[in-house]
Amino acid sequence: MPSDRLPETGRPAGELLAELARLRDADLPVRGGQVTAYVYDTGREAVHALAASAFQEMLEVNCLDPTAFPSIVALERQVVGAVADRLGGGSGIFTSGGTESIMLAVKAARDVRSVDGRPEIVVPATAHPAFHKAAHYLGAKVVQVPVDSSFRVDPVAVAGAITARTVLVVASAPSYPQGVMDPVPEIAAVAASAGVPCHVDACVGGWVLPWLREAGRDVPPFDLSVPGVTSLSCDLHKYGYAPKGASVVLFADESLRRCAYFASAEWPGYTVINAGVQSSKSAGPLGAAWATLNAVGARGYRELAETSMKAAERLIEGVAEIPGLRVLGQPVVPLVAVASDDPELDVFVIADEARARGWFFQPQLSYQGIPPNLHFTLTGVSDVEALLGALSDAVKAARAAGPPDVPAGLADALAGLDLDGLDDAGFGELLASVGVDPAESGGAMATVNAILDVLPPATREALLIRFLSVLYAR
Ligand SMILES: *Cc1c(COP(=O)(O)O)cnc(C)c1O
Repeated sequence: MPSDRLPETGRPAGELLAELARLRDADLPVRGGQVTAYVYDTGREAVHALAASAFQEMLEVNCLDPTAFPSIVALERQVVGAVADRLGGGSGIFTSGGTESIMLAVKAARDVRSVDGRPEIVVPATAHPAFHKAAHYLGAKVVQVPVDSSFRVDPVAVAGAITARTVLVVASAPSYPQGVMDPVPEIAAVAASAGVPCHVDACVGGWVLPWLREAGRDVPPFDLSVPGVTSLSCDLHKYGYAPKGASVVLFADESLRRCAYFASAEWPGYTVINAGVQSSKSAGPLGAAWATLNAVGARGYRELAETSMKAAERLIEGVAEIPGLRVLGQPVVPLVAVASDDPELDVFVIADEARARGWFFQPQLSYQGIPPNLHFTLTGVSDVEALLGALSDAVKAARAAGPPDVPAGLADALAGLDLDGLDDAGFGELLASVGVDPAESGGAMATVNAILDVLPPATREALLIRFLSVLYAR
């Protein structure tokens, strides 16, 4: 019987592994391309098996002390070098993911020169929440610039948002929601003329754009070779197809890279020198990323990028043939956002119908005039004809079902709710009263999404935090 108490006597390995496998039965599959978000599958099983072996080889090595484990220095130099080589040079840091890469870029920018008052970072509305998180953790303020109808930020508007307190200007190459590229050269020029660092968030695009360009496609300049770009983030656990826990942040200038570092001698213990946010950490993700990069190789990445982009283009064509649906913007990478033009056809209901048919389509809530939509990340393994079949079946079913019922007055009631007056149990009861069981995954989410969709971002955030708290409550 599974229990949340530590067993007095250790349990047998076979039983434990069987329990893990059983727990994973409720998870979405990480291979096969039916989950069009979160997971990146090359379709080359040997690559993923090798990554697992490399991960295991490095598993217990501790990145805390690079002098004790020189293997991590050798591996990190090679991984960062390979990324810098394709993305305009510079020197960098291997991190646990896009969020940590962005955290370090924001910290470096904050620390490279001091401003009077609270430091500010200027970000497009489509920039990843990791910038909001970094600002929140690092005591900076986010100054958000709206995007235009092509979901790109206007460099003139960015210039207008820069103040004497601005420490960083951000552009996305591309932004995740619609896969479109901000005008990086123009934004970097605006930042440079104000004497402000400029970070390019190529977390999702950084390891697909260079390969698409090498395969002959037209990719606008976006990397560290662009004048004014001072740092760039590239996630290897996305289109690098490495297991999770792998990203690189590059800095044009080694002195800016050092501003990301941290050292402390303020205690009587071992000396702490950290390039990243974590201190003790497994070298498993580093070993796995190194193995994946070298096993796939440049030709492999060109092929994977081309396959994924062709899948995205076929999806875009296919969506145009499904009445009521349209693609948002013109993606430059294999990310496609699909919205509905028909009030009777609700994208959140489409997502539920697809889930019931074994597919996961990622819902994105409306924001600043951008309609709610479904996000598709295409990868090396995507089978677009099957995806389009599932999508058009889900659309038919969603049209028949109609939009979800949001009880009248519920949104106002939620927006006015005194959340501080509710403990986890009370909030759980509230969720149950609207038919939501946080413990049950894969259930109908359309009503929940529809409710969140009509609420302002601050209320969405407050409710999501309470949801997470209930999910982990004991
Ligand atoms: C995924 C992503 C991030 C955050 O990366 P994590 O690895 O999830 O922390 C940041 N920016 C963009 C554009 C992304 O797609």
